[in-house]
Amino acid sequence: MKRFLRDSNRWIVLCLLWICSILFLTGCGRKSKEQIISKVDTAMGTIIQQTIYLNLTDSEEENKTAEDIIQLVERLEKQELSWRLDTSMVYQINQNAGAEEGTGLLEPLALELEQVLQISEESKGALDVTIGDVVRLWDIDAYCAGEKQDFQLPASDEIQKALEGTGYEKISIKDQKIFLPEGIHLDLGAVGKGLACERIKAYLEEQDSVKGAVISVGGSILTFGEKPDGTAWKVGIVNPHDTGNDIGYLTLNGQWCVSTSGDYERYVEVDGKRYHHIIDPATGYPADSKVSSVTILGKDGLITDALSTACFVLGVEDGLKLAQRFGVEALFIDQDGKQVLTEGMNHYFGI
Ligand code: AMP
Ligand code: MG
Repeated sequence: MKRFLRDSNRWIVLCLLWICSILFLTGCGRKSKEQIISKVDTAMGTIIQQTIYLNLTDSEEENKTAEDIIQLVERLEKQELSWRLDTSMVYQINQNAGAEEGTGLLEPLALELEQVLQISEESKGALDVTIGDVVRLWDIDAYCAGEKQDFQLPASDEIQKALEGTGYEKISIKDQKIFLPEGIHLDLGAVGKGLACERIKAYLEEQDSVKGAVISVGGSILTFGEKPDGTAWKVGIVNPHDTGNDIGYLTLNGQWCVSTSGDYERYVEVDGKRYHHIIDPATGYPADSKVSSVTILGKDGLITDALSTACFVLGVEDGLKLAQRFGVEALFIDQDGKQVLTEGMNHYFGI
């Protein structure tokens, strides 16, 4: 009996040790395998915030996903989107404006530009990627970036003249070539951040170690995969009348893109009147649609970004129709603080 007790005690002790070692090893394994990266950088003239949930293999010691993403965004700006840098595709396209042979486009930019032109058409020109000369005339971006000290309201005849050099319908894409008439310039400022989200998504899909991520490129946010604890992503919506606070948040499972356009992002105030950075191509003046911000929720960042700008210009009524045509959800906040949501947005939006 005594001996049995001693033996059984030994077994109990051995069993306990075994259970503890499994818990310990699993714990160690978890610690060395799961990793969260949080990073804030600036690229493409905006802030990039990344939270990435990784599951590393035993041999992987350092992960470069966050650095790779920043490089991807910098390359996108330098090689494709910038209208300033002579290394970019858009710069080349603008240089070749008027040339009969047009400019050859590489994938995926050819397809992306076709989508943008389609939204320009569907929005009846509320989104117009040839508006750059008018944007530059107002130069609100440069003033807000501190590149310019004095702000001067442009004269109406200057605005009319700049408007003559606009018109998305004058652009055509055929056989992977883009044709711009002389004097028309492409400016992808309204869609670049959402387009970056799409490129980041394609990169993340190839990374075995990435289990989930939430990445914001300026006003466009990508949610990817899942969090290790299985809880949903929460994306805050800025209160346009009190920008230090959110009016609520979206609860999202899996992969989504959220783009917001707002009159609080970049603006100048003159004699109590706010002049913001989103131009109505019909007038050449900052859009006066009584909207303070528009948030679009959808599966494709290029589309959500293009639509957030277009819906801001169109205002609540026509903006809602446009959002419905593209099968995305929308949340408008007007100048009085009133919120108007698509029916589907109610499933995601909470306070
Ligand atoms: P977002 O913040 O995405 O709405 O984009 C605004 C930026 O797009 C501005 O800073 C301008 O560079 C450019 N932009 C302004 N108005 C328009 C417009 N109606 N269509 C296309 N681009 C625009
Ligand atoms: Mg946009």
